[in-house]
Amino acid sequence: MSLFGGIECGGSSFACAIGSGPEDIVAYTKFPTTTPAKTLARAVDFFRSERARHTISVVGIASFGPVDLDRSSPTYGSITTTPKPGWGNVDVAGYVGRELSLPIGFDTDVNATALAEHRWGNAVGLDSFVYVTVGTGIGGGAVFDGSPVHGLVHPEMGHMRVPHDPYDGFAGCCPYHGDCLEGLASGPAIRQRWGAPPDGLPDDHPAWELEAGYLATGLANIVCALSPGRIVLGGGVMGRSVLYPMVRQGLLEQLAGYVQAPELIDDIDGYVIPPALGDRAGVLGAIALAKDAQK
Ligand code: ZN
Repeated sequence: MSLFGGIECGGSSFACAIGSGPEDIVAYTKFPTTTPAKTLARAVDFFRSERARHTISVVGIASFGPVDLDRSSPTYGSITTTPKPGWGNVDVAGYVGRELSLPIGFDTDVNATALAEHRWGNAVGLDSFVYVTVGTGIGGGAVFDGSPVHGLVHPEMGHMRVPHDPYDGFAGCCPYHGDCLEGLASGPAIRQRWGAPPDGLPDDHPAWELEAGYLATGLANIVCALSPGRIVLGGGVMGRSVLYPMVRQGLLEQLAGYVQAPELIDDIDGYVIPPALGDRAGVLGAIALAKDAQK
């Protein structure tokens, strides 16, 4: 049987898998992200050695970004302006495709994770939904009619502007915008503002009310702009489960009854929900990209 390869290119680690979905991963590996040459070669070597046992028809790549998704562009498949040293303008999809002589599906890590949640997780069957991850950065992927929205480049929901809380003296940590949503509410923002890692702050620390307020504003903007059927909210920071009820309540308050949908107003607990797929969502998303590239 022909299977699919998936590569999740993360800023701190790469994950590679072979299979066709969550129930049939036949090979998996994970290793730290170092230089582009060494890291990409290690991914290619994994698939080369596994090809002795498995037939792989397409490889999907879910990459940290920003990335070039314009198929008519000479730099399609590349990471573009990342601040990560050495990784700017690296042709990820081109390199892997050439080395393995296989067709490649390519998208952002956030879009791929959104696709995996739509295919196998907490957004199955929805015409529209948005996945938002809150961790080292903040990102959002919108899946409409089964496909991730790209538009001009790809959405950068983490970099939307939100009103800076007047009692929050932290300037924000986004190198481009200062106090955009990511600059105010990412994991590094929490650490820098309070001088402690998020894990070190107790549930009743004021950090979480402030955090929930910023996230609720971000989600309200997403609801107003895109009208998604559901929001799946995940990422390392959301491991702090006390955030969910605060974000849901804040979202309702921000919208102030203006968006009249029973899915939102009567069932906010089912409208903003955690993801289902856990740590392997990214690499499963890469496999979903591979499947879609074969269509
Ligand atoms: Zn920003």
